[in-house]
Amino acid sequence: MSLDPKRAIAELKELRELTSDENGAQRVAWTDTWLKAREWFAAKVKSLPIEHHYDAAGNNWITLPGASEKSLLIGGHLDSVPNGGWLDGALNVIAGLEVLRRIATEFAGNPPVTIRLVDWADEEGARFGRSLLGSSAFAGTHSIEADRIRTDRDGVKMEDALRRCDVEIDKFPNAEKEQKNAAAYIELHIEQGPVLERMGLPLGVVLGTKGVERHIITFHGQEAHSGSTPMNARRDALAAAAKLALEIRTIAKKHADAVCTMGSVKTFPGIVTAVVGRCEVTLDQRDLDASVLAQMYLEAQQASQRFAVEENCMVEWSRLWNIEPVPFHSQLLDLCEQAVRETSGTSHRMPSGPLHDAAEVSRAGIPTVMMFVQSLKGISHNKIEDTTEEHLEMSVVALDRLASKTMDWIQK
Ligand SMILES: [Zn+2]
Repeated sequence: MSLDPKRAIAELKELRELTSDENGAQRVAWTDTWLKAREWFAAKVKSLPIEHHYDAAGNNWITLPGASEKSLLIGGHLDSVPNGGWLDGALNVIAGLEVLRRIATEFAGNPPVTIRLVDWADEEGARFGRSLLGSSAFAGTHSIEADRIRTDRDGVKMEDALRRCDVEIDKFPNAEKEQKNAAAYIELHIEQGPVLERMGLPLGVVLGTKGVERHIITFHGQEAHSGSTPMNARRDALAAAAKLALEIRTIAKKHADAVCTMGSVKTFPGIVTAVVGRCEVTLDQRDLDASVLAQMYLEAQQASQRFAVEENCMVEWSRLWNIEPVPFHSQLLDLCEQAVRETSGTSHRMPSGPLHDAAEVSRAGIPTVMMFVQSLKGISHNKIEDTTEEHLEMSVVALDRLASKTMDWIQK
């Protein structure tokens, strides 16, 4: 049984058929549809010479034992957002399965190193707002106390939803055991952005996941009557915020891959007859280089002070969340580049804006790399998410090449 990329695509369609409705994929973690996807997957691997178990955080491990206990990990996630696409996360797992089958056949069930395919639990965090849940338990970066009391839209506690799937949140630290003998981690993913399509490239090498700074910025001015307050007597909090909304674009454009987004603007009192007395905005800044991220953060703060003064307002910042950039392993980046080049004739290195399980694995100190395949129109987390079958096939071939190269690298 040699590598059969067409079978991977057929299986992705099978999974779509089984776990989607007219609005898209419904494999939200800890739901019955997700369990159904996992059952389907368990049946797929049954005939292989593998060991199969779920760890303490619900991560799904398929192990093909090799001559050496040193392991090559290949990962993805079967869970989706509600009304999601057919490829996000699932492509990684199904392509990984195809690679596992090829290796099992080629080495008659005994490869030189151990191969482990992992389907991470709850990558998306769609139900409880906590992304990378299973991989963070694996990495030991979990936040059990903060997470257990999270509730979904219906008031169901995370702790209880997990228990229904035989996962005890208190046992999460036991998932760290799975790190044993892990020598490298590789992950294929759809890009979920427009860069590769714009460049006309099927595949890309992922340099790492960008760090994120996320803040709420509040401008305080003076609520005033819109009829009686002259223009030069106003302390308009929205005016200051609006200037910042434009300035963050200039701040981001100084750096090649940096992005800054003002995603939310709230005005108070927010009525048509009043000058805005208070304006709350959110800022999300991302870059792969920690010093660039720090610089952009500083510049945005300075700009907000400047605009506050110009509009006779005050400004305050409060951090919502942040994470440091996670650059991937330099030698694995080279191997990934070779695999991409051999498959598509050309290669491009790019950072990932979205976070991925690979970031958690890398934070655990395991050499890690990711590969992207082009997304049509750059759209994901939506039922129209798609990639051409030609590119999907290439991605399976390239992941397979990367797996072979990484197995060699592990043995060196
Ligand atoms: Zn994903």
